[in-house]
Amino acid sequence: MRRDLRTLALFVRIYCDGNHRDRERAKHRSPAVDSGVYGDSAAMLCADCSQHLSYGEARRVFCALDPKPFCAHCEVHCFKAEERAWNRQMMRYAGPRSLTRGFARQAARHFAGSVRTRIRRLRNRT
Ligand code: SF4
Ligand SMILES: [Zn+2]
Repeated sequence: MRRDLRTLALFVRIYCDGNHRDRERAKHRSPAVDSGVYGDSAAMLCADCSQHLSYGEARRVFCALDPKPFCAHCEVHCFKAEERAWNRQMMRYAGPRSLTRGFARQAARHFAGSVRTRIRRLRNRT
């Protein structure tokens, strides 16, 4: 779970860095930060991105699926529609950039998981 939350925060950070540098930004604050998920390195985010990240963290913490798929490939999808839409556009921006911003390992793990989920789904359909 810790790894998932860190990966999510990483993508939100890339998105906020690329789109909201003109906004006032501060260290992200949330129960996940307080419980030490990010160590001393909570992301600097604008209030909007921080709120979206808090929402995603809470969903992840209370996720009942085991094994948990990536949220993007989840058939349950517990996010409210607007949060889901926000995450989709955030990932469209941050996903490709994560590969070139020194986070190739996390990004590769994320995309490998996506591929595994797709393969599992295809197998279940046959
Ligand atoms: S979208 Fe699916 S995988 Fe993601 S937290 Fe919700 S139930 Fe779990
Ligand atoms: Zn932002």
